Amino acid sequence: MKTDMKAVYRCIECGAVYKIEPERMLCASCSALQRADEPLRGLLEVEYDGRLPADWDIFHFLPVEPEYFPPIPVGHTPLWKPENLRKETGFPELYLKDDGSNPTGSFKDRASFLVAAFARKHGIRDIVVASTGNAGSSMAGVGAAAGLNVRLYLPESAPEAKLVQSLQYGAQLIRVKGNYDEAYKQSMEYVSTHGGLSRNTAHNPLTIEGKKTVSLEIYRQLGKKLPDFLFVSVGDGVIISGVYKGLDDLHRQGLIERIPTVIAVQAEGSSAISRALSHGEFQPPVPASTIADSISVDVPKGGYFALKKLREHKGEAVTVSDKEILRAQHTLARSCGLFTEPAGAAAAAGFFKLREKLSSKAVYAVLLTGSGLKDIASARKGVMG
Ligand SMILES: *Cc1c(COP(=O)(O)O)cnc(C)c1O
Repeated sequence: MKTDMKAVYRCIECGAVYKIEPERMLCASCSALQRADEPLRGLLEVEYDGRLPADWDIFHFLPVEPEYFPPIPVGHTPLWKPENLRKETGFPELYLKDDGSNPTGSFKDRASFLVAAFARKHGIRDIVVASTGNAGSSMAGVGAAAGLNVRLYLPESAPEAKLVQSLQYGAQLIRVKGNYDEAYKQSMEYVSTHGGLSRNTAHNPLTIEGKKTVSLEIYRQLGKKLPDFLFVSVGDGVIISGVYKGLDDLHRQGLIERIPTVIAVQAEGSSAISRALSHGEFQPPVPASTIADSISVDVPKGGYFALKKLREHKGEAVTVSDKEILRAQHTLARSCGLFTEPAGAAAAAGFFKLREKLSSKAVYAVLLTGSGLKDIASARKGVMG
């Protein structure tokens, strides 16, 4: 499968262009301006030059050739037409994108898949990642299929299922006293002294690029169309950045005329990007606290990328309480048979919250980003108190 698409990295801040190579993670000049307590500076975006062939598939739209991808079926997740929920809510064109059905049970597989392919292409064996749980268990699982060694830094508070899952996949696990930010710091110290490829979200530009595949899939699943509104739960802001990246790629190739409205949904107790969107810039961090562990972050690593895209494309943000998240989780499970983890249910909670203000004639898609089995202790609270 040959394509003429050529790819480079471009800094989202200064526009500098870099070759796509394992040593390159951030823009050299913008990352030098990094201050503590702000999102990562100098994030890089993959930029393509060239035209897609008429019979394109998703691999044409990625910067690594198909033969390097590991044998594990990531992506191509179902787009549900939830009849009961459509009736209950009065939205006949509501869709649910079920990314909990990825091999390791979360959306994170999209990023791990591309990072693993890139490592294989460059003969790299060791991957290092810090995670609240899903990115780590995803890299562990996809890495197992790819024959890679995965070193995972996980906060002690991570849900047990995500931890056990990572051990099953054979990851080398370092349990960190402290939160995700501390785990991130330790993982970066390890990379700088011992080497290995960072799969840290946002830091490795391919995490954003891999996540864009969800937008390409939805476009194909809806018959070369996109929904009018996309609801996305947001922690570090990398999924939403990837969603926008996919939309931008479709737009640049002339495949869509306009970019849908993307709604960033955050937990009330972890709302850095939503606050930045309303203030125009990032505010001093507030310690995060929410039942949705996968979107609980003090300083969102991908914040600048997400904020830039939200502004450019007039995206919106909404926050939801833990109670609303648990209620949405139960609603989805009870009315559709779709059991998603709290961070996934948050996106649905955002849709339910805005419902009154939305037109029932438009087409909506809600991204459900992880399986409910990932965090039973939280799900239990929604049904047993
Ligand atoms: C990581 C994750 C998110 C949020 O993605 P960010 O890139 O951190 O914004 C949402 N839901 C689930 C299940 C996740 O694992």
